[in-house]
Amino acid sequence: IKDMADDEAIQATNDDASECKRYAVQLGYWSDPFINFFVKQTGRKAPEINRGYYARVKGIEVFVDKFLKLSGEKGQIINLGAGFDTLYWRLKEAGKCPANFIELDFPSITARKCYHIKKHKQLIDTLNTEDGEIRFSTTDLHAANYHLVGIDLRHISELTNKLTQAEVNFNLPTMFLAECVLVYIDTSAASALLKWLAGKFPNSIFVNYEQVNMKDKFGQVMLSNLRSRGCLLAGVEDCESLETQQRRFTINSWEGSNAWTMVEVYDSLPQDDRSRIEHIEMLDERELLIQLLQHYCISVAWNGQTFKNLSIAQG
Ligand code: SAM
Repeated sequence: IKDMADDEAIQATNDDASECKRYAVQLGYWSDPFINFFVKQTGRKAPEINRGYYARVKGIEVFVDKFLKLSGEKGQIINLGAGFDTLYWRLKEAGKCPANFIELDFPSITARKCYHIKKHKQLIDTLNTEDGEIRFSTTDLHAANYHLVGIDLRHISELTNKLTQAEVNFNLPTMFLAECVLVYIDTSAASALLKWLAGKFPNSIFVNYEQVNMKDKFGQVMLSNLRSRGCLLAGVEDCESLETQQRRFTINSWEGSNAWTMVEVYDSLPQDDRSRIEHIEMLDERELLIQLLQHYCISVAWNGQTFKNLSIAQG
């Protein structure tokens, strides 16, 4: 029962992320015409939170763009713990579509996502490509190059089957995305997942956004950091530092890895864009933003030569 309560709390983190994204979009931090189909209302969020989300979304986009350039039309994106993420629709709108796009999350989340997709013509029409056939179950959706699949990522034995249903091709250049997901999975299950993916996808890149620098000056994981929004951060050990974030990949069969705090990511974003969003809301204490950004990072890991050593730098 305790585990079920924790799983529900973990699933609720998706509502939180989606609401924060919607609020920042509403204020004009970035454009996303699709998020409001998934989230109806949001409360006010603090300016540093909005800037933090801006850096998160833009930082991920930098790697998505690099991946799509390097893989051409042949790339495949697999979003782990995708929640209500709208990346597929944003890419489609920008005319940048990979060969296949697969989203995985708990069945309770994918069922809600299926419902919203079915309900909104703008979402479902985007899926209508090629033969136009779309297959639905309560929790899963399969279209020409978009697949939404319900699974508990701790259950690796189900992954092959679920990915096969999603028409995965293990030999295509593949990008994995995990935005605030692995931290909710205990270290041994997350390691097993990373190792399994490394073994199956020889030409791939993993882009991971999550917490970092979770220890205090005495080297202890700060107790207040063990839980977030009421749920256990089971994988917090790997979030200790940029080194542990990198090492979790290399000890699980990934060839190489790199990591940046979100301070570095923020500072690497185009100056014009940063100036624009810094004028949206006043932020009296820049220190607040820096403190927040220091506790999150983007790490990337790769297998094969194509995506070796990609950096956060633009271009
Ligand atoms: N990636 C999305 C984003 O950034 O908007 C959602 C982030 S939300 C903080 C974390 C997501 O990870 C939730 O949707 C949750 O259901 C999913 N998740 C966590 N543990 C999972 C597991 N074991 N299996 C499948 N999904 C999981």
